[in-house]
Formats: sequence, structure tokens, C-alpha cells
Amino acid sequence: MKQKFQSGLINLNNSNFGCLISLIVLGLLLGTVGLQWVVNGFLIFIAFLIITPIIGFWIFRWWLKRNIVEDSCPVCDYTFSGFNNAQCRCPNCGELLQVHGGHFERLTPEGTIDVNAVDVSVKRIDDN
Ligand SMILES: [Zn+2]
Repeated sequence: MKQKFQSGLINLNNSNFGCLISLIVLGLLLGTVGLQWVVNGFLIFIAFLIITPIIGFWIFRWWLKRNIVEDSCPVCDYTFSGFNNAQCRCPNCGELLQVHGGHFERLTPEGTIDVNAVDVSVKRIDDN
């Protein structure tokens, strides 16, 4: 029983030692062969960090040019910008608009009848 435990402990130590040696060897290999790659990788990463926002900015600008439409509201003639093929609300009168073919169009949901609200005064009958 004791012998078995000891041999197990030795095996464990041996495997740990082997693992350590292989790690050191791997580290040495990486240090001699892979160091240049690590430096290059770091430089590429830095360049990526710098270039990505610039490219992103240009793509964003291109996208804005393609997608932003400036037109006047068909209801109140207030000129503002909206996204192409998207719904937006006029910031002046609050009318729901749809950008279609570079122009704002009034968006009326299906089944809605456009009526002007009329204030009807109702006489209150008080039986006092
Ligand atoms: Zn409007």
C-alpha cells in the first residue's frame, strides 16, 4: 500500500518534471524561432489598431453618403436628413415619414384614414 503510493508520487513528480522540461523547450523554441513572429504579430496588431478606425471612418462616411437623404418634410416643409429606406419622424411636426427614392413620403399605416381632428364641444347637461 505504502509502496504503491510512493511509486504514484514518483510518477507524478516525473510527469511534472517532464512537463516542465517540455515547457522550457517550447519556450526556447519560441524564443529563437518565434520571437520575430511575436514582434511582427505585435506590430501588425498595433497597425491594425491604428488602421481599423480610419478604414471604419471612411466606410462610415461612404455609407452615410449613400444612405443619408436630405429633403423637406411633405407636411411642414422643414428640411432635415433621414436614412434611406427607413422610417423617420419629422423633428418639426412629428409626422411619421418614409424615405423613398431620396425623398420623404408621408407614411400612413394601412387602413388608416387621414382625417383632421375636429374639436367638438359637448354641452354638459347639469340638472341642478
Ligand atoms: Zn414636418
